[in-house]
Amino acid sequence: VSELATMMDVSVTEIISSCMSLGLFVSINQRLDAETMSIVAEEFGYTVEFVSADIMEGVEEDDEPDEVHPRAPIVTVMGHVDHGKTSLLDYIRSANVIAGEAGGITQHIGAYHVSLEDGRKITFLDTPGHEAFTAMRARGAQVTDIAIIIVAADDDIMPQTKEAINHAQAAGVPIVFAINKIDKPGANPEKIKEGLANLNFLVEEWGGKYQSQDISAKQGLNISELLEKVVLEAEMLELKGNKDKRASGTIVESSLDKGRGYVATVLVQNGTLRQGDIVLAGQYYGHIKAMFNERNQRIDSAGPSEPVIILGLDGAPQAGDKFNVFENEREARQIANKREQLAREQGLRTQKHITLDEIGRRIAIGNFQELNLIVKGDVDGSIEALSDSLIKLSTEEIQVNVIHKAVGAISESDIMLATASDAIVVGFQVRPSLGARKLAEKEEVDIRLYSIIYDAINELRSAMEGMLSPEI
Ligand code: GDP
Repeated sequence: VSELATMMDVSVTEIISSCMSLGLFVSINQRLDAETMSIVAEEFGYTVEFVSADIMEGVEEDDEPDEVHPRAPIVTVMGHVDHGKTSLLDYIRSANVIAGEAGGITQHIGAYHVSLEDGRKITFLDTPGHEAFTAMRARGAQVTDIAIIIVAADDDIMPQTKEAINHAQAAGVPIVFAINKIDKPGANPEKIKEGLANLNFLVEEWGGKYQSQDISAKQGLNISELLEKVVLEAEMLELKGNKDKRASGTIVESSLDKGRGYVATVLVQNGTLRQGDIVLAGQYYGHIKAMFNERNQRIDSAGPSEPVIILGLDGAPQAGDKFNVFENEREARQIANKREQLAREQGLRTQKHITLDEIGRRIAIGNFQELNLIVKGDVDGSIEALSDSLIKLSTEEIQVNVIHKAVGAISESDIMLATASDAIVVGFQVRPSLGARKLAEKEEVDIRLYSIIYDAINELRSAMEGMLSPEI
């Protein structure tokens, strides 16, 4: 607040009262978010321009169209517990379907890439499940290009199958279905396809747009066909990368190794990462001393969509943190220090999420068009009824989306999804688990509990009209 006042040569009180008119009560030392800063500055006749070196985002150069080339898709496997996620990833890793690769994949480094017979490549994230997927998203990382949703054909579409589907959809990530365990005597893939159809996911064989492949992860049946479909889906996405610039990407895993120091698995998403590069990730930085691939072979560069282990950082960044390469070590160190200071100041808070109380203000400002909700309840019937009514509150200005709904207590995975998708969690006749409550506090996710449907609808309507009386 005071910095902005100085820059615009107005008094701090004027800034504070301008914030107050937006419904924000700020103090002189408070950090304003980008949006508030723009609005306040405009009031005083200034336009805010956000220049590069945004310390939370890092810096990235733009690509010219002729500099980019196709890159391999990055794939996550999700689905209900015991439906075969690990088996599928293990089978693919075990190299049976991979042509002409020297040396097997010996290590679990959080990601690996494989080549198909025709030379095309796919990168897999090796931590299966939507929890890991959404935890990464909650840190701002969009890593996955395609989700394989695996369903066991001797079982049913289960709660976590639906959850995985919703998490993928909330991220806007296309889905390929793998219907697994077809080797089992009781397997009935058609029943699964029917179940998917009931959820409005019509697979291609049934005239729909979703690709699906019957497989056996255990026996390695039809895995090449599945990968073929993944590649096909990827082609439609026209994924591109530019290998001729400094690398940027995401941290997949990191740890402290007794002999080697800090070890991080990173996924290069653009550019080429080279030994000797100065890397900044989260609050940590350092020269890359050595790089290894998932076959434990030493390499000296990695291009778009390639996972690689790097040694040389001065700490362990978190999974989902972005990394960037800097030309100048001093600059990297300065940003690392600034981030550390910010993290201390904000108690590791990186993002504040939408609350019911804030909706009115955000709508009034005019840049809030979609309200995402997660609805959890005790019985299916009431969840459906409540969700329908909430969606019907949509107006011309604001679309209400229910991005996930399910029976059961509010879980940590719901809070992660809310964090990643900036959603409010609505509980009907259910409560959050202890873990979920703690996470919601930390991430500042708004949880609203109701025992009467009418109350829920009314409160949301009031909030959207900006008429909600503040909580005392
Ligand atoms: P996850 O929890 O989704 O990672 O599931 P797992 O990969 O651990 O598999 C759960 C169980 O199902 C294990 O005992 C696997 O051996 C078994 N399984 C996985 N895929 C198949 C399959 O295609 N056929 C059969 N018969 N069993 C499978």
